[in-house]
Amino acid sequence: MSDQTPERLAETRQRMAAVDGPQQVLGRALTIGCVALEITQRCNLDCTLCYLSENSEHVVDIPIDEVLQRLSNIRETYGTYTNVQITGGDPTLRKHSELVEIVRYARRLELFPSLFTNGIAASRRLLVTLAKAGLKDVAFHVDTTQQRAGYADEKSLNALREQYIERARGLGLMVIFNTTVHAGNIAEIPDLIRFFRRHAGDVGLASFQLQAETGRGVWGGRGQEVSIEGVRNCIEGVAARPLPWDAIRIGHPECHSYLPTLVIGDDIVPIVEDPNLIGEFIADFSNHHADRREGWRRVVGQYFLAAIRQPRWFLRAGKFLMRLLWQTRRALLRNRGRVRQLSFFVHNFMDAAALDSERVNACSFMVMTNRGPVSMCEHNAKRDEYILQPIKFRRRDGSLGDYDPLRSTSRQALRA
Ligand code: SF4
Repeated sequence: MSDQTPERLAETRQRMAAVDGPQQVLGRALTIGCVALEITQRCNLDCTLCYLSENSEHVVDIPIDEVLQRLSNIRETYGTYTNVQITGGDPTLRKHSELVEIVRYARRLELFPSLFTNGIAASRRLLVTLAKAGLKDVAFHVDTTQQRAGYADEKSLNALREQYIERARGLGLMVIFNTTVHAGNIAEIPDLIRFFRRHAGDVGLASFQLQAETGRGVWGGRGQEVSIEGVRNCIEGVAARPLPWDAIRIGHPECHSYLPTLVIGDDIVPIVEDPNLIGEFIADFSNHHADRREGWRRVVGQYFLAAIRQPRWFLRAGKFLMRLLWQTRRALLRNRGRVRQLSFFVHNFMDAAALDSERVNACSFMVMTNRGPVSMCEHNAKRDEYILQPIKFRRRDGSLGDYDPLRSTSRQALRA
């Protein structure tokens, strides 16, 4: 059971008023899509579309007590079972004992911690330790904006993606791949989608972030060839069918699209198509949050018990499964009943100079700062205002500490 209080949900529902609908998850079951917790501004790459600031490398990591305080603030603001992205820069550059402590603390607060990394320093050993500490997902950012030596295109990076899949194998973590879509790789996206289809099950979520002019990136804004519709069309092209992109809505539909699918051989089949069915499911089961780390039997058991109180859902589930089985009968026969799960996510980040206030107000992806949650697009646009400010923080013994993000030597090197 989550502690998504009616007050929190009502507040979120109000924030989503402009983009509400029966299938809107925010304000009904969730108070936020996810919250980023930046535990370092340092990175071991310098991507051509990086959202960090020119000054990020000079910034000293925020104290561990401040990080833990921000986790408590996330729980306080959004409730239990909130998705937390432990990110940076690259979080694996933080002392690993602290990274483990951060994940363990997030678990203790009943949050859903995920590690967002470029994978370079995310060894098997580290992933094993973090999984034991309570990590839920690992998201690898791999694409040609990273300009990794020896990898000229997205296809050549598949070898690296396969290495990362093996590093996370058998740890109960959902493996996510983040790909920045830009003018230079849009033509390769269909083949990349075929790669993820081949690895469905081992890969749980294929997430595509659209090029945006923000931060220290040098490739600037996107051209017309890069759009949320364009990437959706790539996925539909590989699936060889139209897909119900608005069956589930998490925040503003212009911000992103989310679609859970089943992969049966080469067939990509949407799990849900009817926004009204989603709406009723959310309404009846909104306080049930599946924690995959507890195992799928326990998750199914929880929903089964919940359905006993609303028996009409047994009939609905039966009809739903019959429809899905009938739709996929040939593919199931061809593939001896082998079914894997793969979700798609397309994120339409905004350029720093073109923030849309309606979207920012309905933002589903926040960053927790010392001043509270801020929309990721807004945070990227004004990053120095947040990361370069000295702050007072509370130590776990209750005393107050001073954190200065810049050593005196760095202050002279600052770029405006
Ligand atoms: S405002 Fe930006 S960060 Fe927030 S959901 Fe929209 S695109 Fe994403």
